[in-house]
Amino acid sequence: MEETGAAQSPPGSGESGFPAYHAARCGGLAELDAQLVRCRACPRLVDWREETAAHPRAAFRDQKYWARPVPGFGPPDAALALVGLAPAAHGGNRTGRMFTGDASGDFLFAALHAVGLASQPTATHRGDGLELYGVRVTAPVHCAPPENRPTPAERRTCRPWLSAELKLLGPSLRAVVALGAFGWQALLPVLGEMGWPLPRPRPAFGHGVQLTLPATGQRQELQVLGSYHPSQRNTFTGRLTFDMFVELLARAAELAGLGPSGDARGRPDAR
Ligand code: SF4
Repeated sequence: MEETGAAQSPPGSGESGFPAYHAARCGGLAELDAQLVRCRACPRLVDWREETAAHPRAAFRDQKYWARPVPGFGPPDAALALVGLAPAAHGGNRTGRMFTGDASGDFLFAALHAVGLASQPTATHRGDGLELYGVRVTAPVHCAPPENRPTPAERRTCRPWLSAELKLLGPSLRAVVALGAFGWQALLPVLGEMGWPLPRPRPAFGHGVQLTLPATGQRQELQVLGSYHPSQRNTFTGRLTFDMFVELLARAAELAGLGPSGDARGRPDAR
């Protein structure tokens, strides 16, 4: 009998179904990152990331901006994941590496270095030699949004990338830190979809809040921690001090089985 109906072709990079289709089919993080950087599913964010690149800050005028989705950064067998908000227009959107090239990243990588999870306290560009140990830094939205505010629809469209990334980290993943309320709200539904039972009502975000998601037939036990985001608004006002952040990351590292070093080198507020 003759077949009726043509096979559906995969969604193009500018279609809203692109992330869900491709993220689910990737067999490893390298493949996921390669697909991710092709994504143009959110027209407003595509415009913004390219518009920003066309109008660089004076200090970066001689640099070519990345202007594409920014993949997660860190080893493919990380035991700890940090989930932020989205790349900054003149930070990750410029350098092509998560949290690299802005004040939040300066604070974050100095703190990761202080607990022994980063090879150096600074992150300036993709070829700067920085390595992360046992930790992967990512975001629920991979393109820089205007005013750092993705819409709920953009958040939903981008979610399959984060979901696939956490799935591909697989059994090595023991703990996740949500950086800020946005990261917390974006992360919990992803973990629920992945099969972890979430408490009802969902626990509210707070700095130091810890949630233990029990092992299931398919998933290992997972520790989820909330931390204030290392944004300038939080770090300049003292809402998040370097010591608070180091303490939280050390706790997360311990929960993930990585073990804190307690080394406090590289404090940005001690320079
Ligand atoms: Fe694609 Fe996510 Fe960027 Fe939207 S935010 S264009 S889904 S990578």
